[in-house]
Amino acid sequence: MCGIVGIVDASGVSFPLYYALYALQHRGQESAGISTFEGTTLYTHKAQGLVAEVFNSQILQKLQGNAGIGHVRYPTTGSKIPENVQPFNFRYLGLELSIAHNGNLVNTAELRAEYERRGQIFSTTTDTEIIGSIIADALRTSKSMEDAVRLCMRRLRGSYSVVALVNGTVYAFRDPLGIKPLCIGKIDHGYIVASESVAIDALDGTLLRDVRPGELVCIDEDGLSSTQIATANRRAHCIFEYIYFARADSVMDGTLVYDVRRRIGQRLYDAKPVEADTVCPVPDSGIAYAAGYAERSCIPFVEGLMKNRYMGRTFIMPTQQQRERAVRIKLNTVRGNLKDKRVVLVDDSIVRGTTSRRIVNMIREAGAEEIHLRVGSPPIIAPCYLGVDMPTRAELIASSRDVEAVRESVGATTLAYIPLEDLVEAIGWSETNLCTGCLTGCYPVDIPGERSCHCIVDYVAGTHQADLSSFKMEKERTA
Ligand code: AMP
Repeated sequence: MCGIVGIVDASGVSFPLYYALYALQHRGQESAGISTFEGTTLYTHKAQGLVAEVFNSQILQKLQGNAGIGHVRYPTTGSKIPENVQPFNFRYLGLELSIAHNGNLVNTAELRAEYERRGQIFSTTTDTEIIGSIIADALRTSKSMEDAVRLCMRRLRGSYSVVALVNGTVYAFRDPLGIKPLCIGKIDHGYIVASESVAIDALDGTLLRDVRPGELVCIDEDGLSSTQIATANRRAHCIFEYIYFARADSVMDGTLVYDVRRRIGQRLYDAKPVEADTVCPVPDSGIAYAAGYAERSCIPFVEGLMKNRYMGRTFIMPTQQQRERAVRIKLNTVRGNLKDKRVVLVDDSIVRGTTSRRIVNMIREAGAEEIHLRVGSPPIIAPCYLGVDMPTRAELIASSRDVEAVRESVGATTLAYIPLEDLVEAIGWSETNLCTGCLTGCYPVDIPGERSCHCIVDYVAGTHQADLSSFKMEKERTA
């Protein structure tokens, strides 16, 4: 997962990009970067670390220009090495291209092998560099960015929301299934595209709409224009964005994420009511769910856990004992709210089970009588290949255990997950328009060795190259 942003603003973009990246920090804490363009010069500053660690006002002042893009990285492909920090720049024949990407391609290896055979040299291990290389290569022969993106989209398989800066114009496009989010906003003297609407809010802007799946948006000093590059017979919005990844105050594909989570909380009570004294969220991810659960059950919402929000990634933990202590520094119990209480503990998801086990144990040690764990996602049974850092089946606690075995493993009195139908209803999209790969093991794109769902993508005819005319790609059901 990553966060991306692109801005064109007549009064300069480096500070707005910085504020927008700050709002998207939850989408990636590994590295941050900004590219801007002024006159004939592309400026880039990027490094490993949080947004506040990577930039200061002197650096931002040097990033001149009225157009730029930014990125925060959460590594899903490519190792955590400085070379993999985005945006990536491509320069030749008067072209200055800078590119940043959120998502994950599933055909990186074959594309890379093909382009290496053609003499392309790659300097990173990321799929983003492949996207940039294909576009840069296509721009040598095609006359427009539109054709280059069309050619690129035809080659890519997987999830991608991309922002690109080409000689002072910002382009943004989203894969034909719209797997990763991307939205457009109006700001004072220009426009912004960003992974989540909270970046638009940070600039006091107005959310206009989402970038449509398969759409290419172009922003320059004349304003905003758009071309539909590809259309598909379905969407595949990442269901995990609604469950965990997006900020609750974001509006994604027309829906306020907080509302989705609150509705899930309500349905969690309906699905398996329990008598209890308090509803307690796992902070921060469980808060909206617990609010909904408390509302529906009329059991009071009481915080039993407090999170220390000032513990940065740089917190030093050299020994196992210190690491264990660090857990208590990060999260502590409010004993008075838990002692002798029957507690409904609400969290968004159980992945490996380590977090839930630790928290259930802490709450029990604080004196709770019963701990009823309620989870805002169905059991996660399969890995994600499309951009969420979700481990292998062997590491996923629910992939080989039923609900009772998971309950026993985490030590809760009772355990209930939200049923998939209820989750889908709470989101408001039909199940066929969501990617539920991690919950069903059935993916919207072909992945070797996995089941995939039927999906047809049409590419709208190109303007310049005959061989780019409309064609149909049919994905067969490989159940
Ligand atoms: P665990 O079950 O110990 O693997 O941790 C699950 C918890 O981590 C969930 O309650 C989420 O709040 C959070 N979480 C879920 N998915 C991710 C992810 N891909 N990256 C980081 N944290 C996650």
